[in-house]
Amino acid sequence: MSALLSIRGMTAGYGGATALNGVSLSVAAGETVALLGANGAGKSTLLKALLGLVPAQGELRFDGGDLGPLATEVRVRRGIGYVPEGRRVFPGMSVRDNLEVAGLPAARDRAQDVERVFALFPDLAVKSRDSAWRLSGGQQQMLSLGRALMGRPHLLLLDEPSLGLSPKLADEVFAAVGRIAAAGTAVLLAEQSAARALTVAPRAVLLRLGRVVGDGPVASLSDKVLREAFFGV
Ligand code: ATP
Repeated sequence: MSALLSIRGMTAGYGGATALNGVSLSVAAGETVALLGANGAGKSTLLKALLGLVPAQGELRFDGGDLGPLATEVRVRRGIGYVPEGRRVFPGMSVRDNLEVAGLPAARDRAQDVERVFALFPDLAVKSRDSAWRLSGGQQQMLSLGRALMGRPHLLLLDEPSLGLSPKLADEVFAAVGRIAAAGTAVLLAEQSAARALTVAPRAVLLRLGRVVGDGPVASLSDKVLREAFFGV
């Protein structure tokens, strides 16, 4: 499989502090990869660097082109969708309007994409006219995912989509991520809960203190490597 996303030797930080140190990884078209690591390992920084929200050095290629010089909005237009940590929806706007404002310029494309999101998340279809603040936490997370899908991404970056949700709602969000992946969108999923991430991702990359300490099919990652990534033992 040729890589959709390819990162080589990525370094990024905040002022003097290095948060990513020579990170290399790739994601193939349609592949779901879990990005695992403890609090502070650098998962969020990596996703932000892919979007150009945090300055980074190193090689960064997406869909055959160099992402490095491109502004964030151009990266998004090239096909990178991003769901940041926390649920980013416009609470006072209806569910449908939340999707519409995130959509493509042509009304016909937008209408099609709203229907696609509603097919993926039937709960949202039922509440399409409700204000977003009326949704449950899990439904808001689904709306946040739906908004990212409105740009027709080839790669979806998800930052801890289950954070703060009850186990039941987290399961629902992960089931939705599974459906998105099954529809052919590549997903890079940052998650602290390895057990949960591995329900949807056949492959995982482990980050520890800004470095990749493991990368491979889930079955090939030993308990030792997983323990090291999370607890440093
Ligand atoms: P979390 O689950 O807490 O989001 P993470 O794996 O996503 O963890 P990052 O948020 O990427 O980790 O943090 C990596 C390192 O960068 C940490 O040492 C963190 O303290 C530092 N860091 C993150 N954001 C900033 C910031 N805005 N300014 C300074 N340092 C930061």
